Amino acid sequence: MRGSQLERLGAGIDALLKSNRFYRARLHRVSTWDDFEQLPLTTKAELMADQQANPPFGTNLTLPIEHYSRLHQTSGTSGTTPLRWLDTAESWDWWTRIWAEHIYRSAGTQPNDRVFFAFSFGPFIGFWSAFSGAERLGALVIPGGAMTTEQRLHTMLELRATVLCSTPTYAIRLAEAAAAAGIDLAASDIRLTIHAGEPGASVPATRDLIERSFGARCFDHTGMTELGPTGVSCDARDGVHLIESEFVFEVRDDGGAIHVIPETGTITGELVATNLGRWGSPLIRYRTGDRVELTREPCSCGSPFAKMVGGIRGRVDDMFTVRGVNLYPSQVEDLVRRHTSIGEFRIEVRSVRGMEEVTILCECEGDDGESTVSRLAADLRVALGARIECRPVAIGTLPRSDLKSRRLIRT
Ligand SMILES: [Zn+2]
Repeated sequence: MRGSQLERLGAGIDALLKSNRFYRARLHRVSTWDDFEQLPLTTKAELMADQQANPPFGTNLTLPIEHYSRLHQTSGTSGTTPLRWLDTAESWDWWTRIWAEHIYRSAGTQPNDRVFFAFSFGPFIGFWSAFSGAERLGALVIPGGAMTTEQRLHTMLELRATVLCSTPTYAIRLAEAAAAAGIDLAASDIRLTIHAGEPGASVPATRDLIERSFGARCFDHTGMTELGPTGVSCDARDGVHLIESEFVFEVRDDGGAIHVIPETGTITGELVATNLGRWGSPLIRYRTGDRVELTREPCSCGSPFAKMVGGIRGRVDDMFTVRGVNLYPSQVEDLVRRHTSIGEFRIEVRSVRGMEEVTILCECEGDDGESTVSRLAADLRVALGARIECRPVAIGTLPRSDLKSRRLIRT
């Protein structure tokens, strides 16, 4: 695998040196791994700055503009300007092939499945590639854009969909709406759910809740608009495999040093990725901003690929500190989801005299929100060793989205 990665890198980088304005000055020829390891990292801030200086598409384009056939953009959930991203027909084919050959295959999706996409199909890439990938697989694809939650629920049931693609939060919202309407979703035809956009499907309590509600097996997929589809969970259910046949993955530790994935043990830090099949708009040693723990220990599913233990732990920027304890939103989510009367929740972090003050706001069903949140606060104290204020808020107070839900807000 390393040999084939290096071959694709060498040929791809030669093409960038000829005609990619963004990368031409940053790169040199690569014929050995030593050459590769001397290339600089790429950051999202550099890409944003390039797009602002060279509107509307920036200069990370290897081919003349008429060769590109699709435009998507990042979701802009962090309140930033979205980053635009172009694909050629060839790179779109790469995306959809990875869905068909790796993601749907790992989840066990078949050509006779009916795949429902509870997604709004706007400019955010979201499940567009999943849609094309399912079509390529030969499944029946059902777009669920421009519908209310109730309409999506009824469409899914009426058309006897067998696979649901959505964010984990939106799957929970569909389950809540079904319960309110007296519909037994677990008795529906849905047998698989595939999630992306948030780490929820790798958070045990969230995954259990989705699987119980739908009577289905739940899978986690990781990917990024600007990078492509990077990983999928497996039957071992303890992490997400990185699709190393299509990317080179490395880890940047907290001191800034870059490491290859070790043969034994684990390594923790920020995931750094290079795609090997999107040469029209490539990323070389891209800092994903995702905090991961990687291992190459053999997996019971037989996959040859390294694994992110427990999926993506969180965004590097989303770490918060409660009296010296470093935490990620996914750790809070795992405890919140054990309380079935809590629906939406949000972590608010304020900086007060250099210290972070944290409050968790929870929408609680029923009259007894105060006692629910005090039980949650006790769980947080025991499991994470952190005293965190938890406050009930009225149902419908917190913002809702069928794109990525932003759980952590800094005020
Ligand atoms: Zn596995």
